Formats: sequence, structure tokens, C-alpha cells
Amino acid sequence: MALEREQVLAALQTVKDPELFKDIVTLGMLKDLLVKAYDVSLTVELTNPTGPLRELVERDITVALRRIGAERVVVNVTAPPGGPKGVSERGGALPQVRHVIAVGAGKGGVGKSTIAANVAVGLSRTGAKVGLMDGDIYGPSMPTLLGIKGAMVKSTKVNDVMKIVPFNVHGIHTITIGNLVEQDKPLIWRGPMAHGAFKQLLVDNTHWPELDYLIVDLPPGTGDVPLTLCQLLPLSGAVIVATPQQVALDDAIRAVRMFQQLAAPILGIVENMSYFPLPDGTSHDLFGRGGARKAADALGVPFLGELPMFQQLRLNSDAGAPLDNFSGAQDLRIALENLVNNLIREVDRNSASAAAPKLTIS
Ligand code: ADP
Repeated sequence: MALEREQVLAALQTVKDPELFKDIVTLGMLKDLLVKAYDVSLTVELTNPTGPLRELVERDITVALRRIGAERVVVNVTAPPGGPKGVSERGGALPQVRHVIAVGAGKGGVGKSTIAANVAVGLSRTGAKVGLMDGDIYGPSMPTLLGIKGAMVKSTKVNDVMKIVPFNVHGIHTITIGNLVEQDKPLIWRGPMAHGAFKQLLVDNTHWPELDYLIVDLPPGTGDVPLTLCQLLPLSGAVIVATPQQVALDDAIRAVRMFQQLAAPILGIVENMSYFPLPDGTSHDLFGRGGARKAADALGVPFLGELPMFQQLRLNSDAGAPLDNFSGAQDLRIALENLVNNLIREVDRNSASAAAPKLTIS
């Protein structure tokens, strides 16, 4: 009996991207599939279509298809089409938002949420209208970082449907699942539940006002939530937060590759906890300052800047007072404003290149 398309798809679902640990069908890497009797030809889109990764994927596909009886297997490998998606291409969801920016990290505890919150507040200080969605649904820390722990969520009727009104604090509009569930209880989500909760909070149930930037703080790693986000909305891009030591960088590189695979532009990598400034003006290089910059260079993505370890930042974060980061210690303010300015520049650069007319020369 000839091969069925479903059978072939099921076999391809056993082939995982070696860097992202998800199968190539779920990741949307499979572009064309032709099944004719016992012959299968397909195109697979890889972030890095050269070198050992390509060989590995080609081999795994061939093995998986031979196992179900394929006789001739032709695998074409391509790279994702260049050019980020701009705001002008934004589809139906959240048309009132100009730029959706994801903040991700390879690992937990690297300061991703701290940077997401402070970048959001920093952007609003430039006069922009800013929203912040706490999409770290497994460990929402925004209630603490923004001082809204235990605050009651308000809702309003929009076209006969009740919608959540984001909190308006520190100059930004924000919503977090931490205020919708019982405080201090672990959140255990299966994949589809996580997908549903995230989608409801981001697009279905929240009444976002007009925004220049919506910052979405993602859970760490390369799980289901970033995939959901990229499927729901065209992103202006993703920011990856990393600490400079090698183990953290390895995971950050995986996060970069995941967003590239999902066709989200990489706005840049931030190096957090770069070093520890000492009172005498020197610094202690705890984790290997400069590692994230090197990783960004190697990946060919922008480096958005470094944020040293500041006790004041930790204290203000625990106290839920992010605005104090911009008024107290000068070094902290300068480091944060530098990140914000670099981010604005990258967003503008991406939008401009997405909007530029393209010449086709044949
Ligand atoms: P993640 O979101 O990556 O899990 P968090 O943003 O929750 O990490 O940060 C973890 C802890 O590290 C928090 O207590 C935060 O205040 C602290 N922290 C993050 N970045 C810095 C920094 N540059 N200097 C001092 N403390 C920091």
C-alpha cells in the first residue's frame, strides 16, 4: 500500500530540531511535502541551513521516512525568508498596538522580568505609550516587581463582552496572571492550558489601550508560550536576556535560534549581571563580562548593552518601585537608559527595513 500523507507527517513529527528540542512539524519548519506512492520529497526551513545541523536533520528525516517504507527521499533545505515582519503587516489581533516586543531568556533567574519591567518603564519615560504583559505564566514576578501584589483586577464591558482593564502603574499599562490566580501557589499548566491562558491574557480578554510598545515577558526557555506568541501576533522582535557565563549563553543561543526559526526578528541580546561594581570605582568580573556580546557577534545579532549588578536595582525590584531605578544611583539609570535607547533604535531600524520598498531585479 502506498504511503499516506498523514503517515508521513506523523513520521516527520518524530524528527526534532537538535537545538530547539521540538519536532520540525510543530516548529513550522516543514514547507512543502509531496508524497507519491513510496517517494517523498519535502522542503525544510532551517535557521542555519549549513554545517552539521543540516546533515543531522537530513539524516533523521531520511531514517524516519525509510522506517515507514519510503523508497526515495528528497530533502531540500532552505533558510527562513529574510526581512522581519513590520507593524504595517500586523494582522487582525491587537491593531491598536504598534510594536509587540518579546523578552525571553534561555534560563530562569537571569533577570529577564527585571529587564522587561525596567525597559517598559524606561520606554514610557521617553513619552511612549507602553504596555507590559507578564507572560511568564509559570512564575509571574510582575506583581512584586511592580508593587501590585494582591491588587484587584478591574474589568469593563467592551462590545457586550467583559474585558480586563490593565493596571496603570509607573506610567505603564500592565497585566499579569499573578493577579488572577491565588497568590503564592505554584501554577501547573499542561501545554494546551498554558497556550490558552496566555492567549486569553494577551489578546482575548484584556482591553489594551492604544500602545506604541507592548512588552511581553515570556517564560524562560524554548517552550510552548513563545511558539504561541509568534503564532498569535507578528512581533517587532525579540530581546534575549543572558548572563555572561557559558552555560547561560548556550541556552540564550538556543532562544535566539528559536525566535529566528519562528521568523521573529532578533532585536538584540542584553547582558545582565555583567560585573559587580566596587565602591572604589573598580569592578569585580564575576561571570565573565563580555560573553553575551561575543555570542551576539557570533550569531550576527545586535548587542543591546550590559547591565551590571546593582544592589539598588534588586532593592527597588523587591519594593515594587521601578521608577526609583531612574532617579537614584546614576550608573543604574545610565545603564537602563542605554538599553532603552538601543532597543528603540533597533525597533526603528527593523520597521524601516520591513517597510522599505523591495526591488526585484531579474
Ligand atoms: P528571571 O525573570 O530571569 O527569572 P528576575 O528578573 O526575576 O529573573 O531576577 C531574579 C533576581 O535577580 C531578582 O531578585 C532581581 O531583583 C535580581 N536582579 C536581576 N538583575 C539584577 C541586576 N542587574 N543587579 C542586581 N539584581 C538583579
